[in-house]
Amino acid sequence: MTTHVDDDGLTFSHFEAFRLINFTFIKACQTINAPDLSPRDRAEKLMRYHGDLLAAYGPGVPLSFGEFRRRLRGPIDGLLPPWLDRSGFGDLDFPVVDAEGCVTGNAFDLQWETSQLHRILKRLRRIGRMRFTEEQLQDEIDQDQMYEILKGRGDAQYVKDRTTLVECPAGTAAELNKRGLPLNAIGFYEPIPYHAVYRTWWFPCTVCKWPMKISKRMSAGREYYRVACLYGRHADTGASFMFRPTSGDAPQLHPDSPDTPAPHEAALALGTSGAVPEAKPVEGHLALKRGVWRYTCVPGLHELRLHTVLRERLATALADVDEAVRLWPMSDAYDHRIEVKGPDGRTHVFTVDVKDYTHGRVLAESLHRNEGDKGGAEWLVVPDHRADQIPLLTVTCHKYGMKAATMTDFAKMVCQSAGVVWA
Ligand SMILES: [Zn+2]
Repeated sequence: MTTHVDDDGLTFSHFEAFRLINFTFIKACQTINAPDLSPRDRAEKLMRYHGDLLAAYGPGVPLSFGEFRRRLRGPIDGLLPPWLDRSGFGDLDFPVVDAEGCVTGNAFDLQWETSQLHRILKRLRRIGRMRFTEEQLQDEIDQDQMYEILKGRGDAQYVKDRTTLVECPAGTAAELNKRGLPLNAIGFYEPIPYHAVYRTWWFPCTVCKWPMKISKRMSAGREYYRVACLYGRHADTGASFMFRPTSGDAPQLHPDSPDTPAPHEAALALGTSGAVPEAKPVEGHLALKRGVWRYTCVPGLHELRLHTVLRERLATALADVDEAVRLWPMSDAYDHRIEVKGPDGRTHVFTVDVKDYTHGRVLAESLHRNEGDKGGAEWLVVPDHRADQIPLLTVTCHKYGMKAATMTDFAKMVCQSAGVVWA
């Protein structure tokens, strides 16, 4: 493994290797659980992934094939190389894929977030050598193409289309067509993913409306199913249910988690449909690809909420709220631009990027490599449930003249600058 040591001692090849490792263990874990592979095909694929992983670990990290297979059933941590500094990563003590062979939310996020970081590094290094296959880059390509397609129709239409996408992560082809999305964007919808299907039905998340994951469980010798959103925060705040198996009828869901945001965060908490979701037929329904859902819809709901709340609260203090409180302005250079006048007549402008990373360390590293925000935002805002990332992000932001805040703290501060009381 060749290394390019840079200013602060981190090596480019470490990140490149880290990214390859993420991809390889996800693929290997899926291979172990794939029901339709012959034993021979399975072994062949696993041997290839074992070789890839050894190459990416670098010399001096021995891992026998037997040990590799054993670790695929264990937590993510066991698959990461010893040279990787774990500080600032989210929880790494859980499996890459769950009992149903579905990639867990945390593993999925680690892969995607590392890919973003890798892309920044690659741009900085202008490395021509491409170690990643088309398949490995597909999630990123999807995301890029998605924005290109939406941007092609002008700024005002961009905001409308992106809002539609955030609000409609699933539906029938007829419903999606009616919402007026560009025809190419419909191509980012796929049949309902297998992990979300019970016989011929699926259930939309009560927060984001994307199909919830279904897993079979046993309790006191009786079989039941759990239905929960793959985004943990949604599952923790109401999008979690259970049902008993049925013979012919659609199953009836029963809630199994509380739905109460902390009182001080209530204003910016995401709305839920409140009702218990009804079974929808798999036939005829489509859902956004997982990467687009996770990195457009999930943060998009927070962005829309922040925008709506600021518009409402600042309405009385502003002459032209449409001009002063803007979402995804200037071809999406950043997520929000807010301009208010203080009681003393001074103008305050806030430019904001909302970041919803599971692994704060990867986000901090990305900021560092971009030397701040790529679009020039001065504020980095995270959803309230990521408050524990603020100390780390504050240190990194400070280096580049930026500030970090949770959504509620940020909204309060903006209102205060405008002389509006945050009740
Ligand atoms: Zn959800």
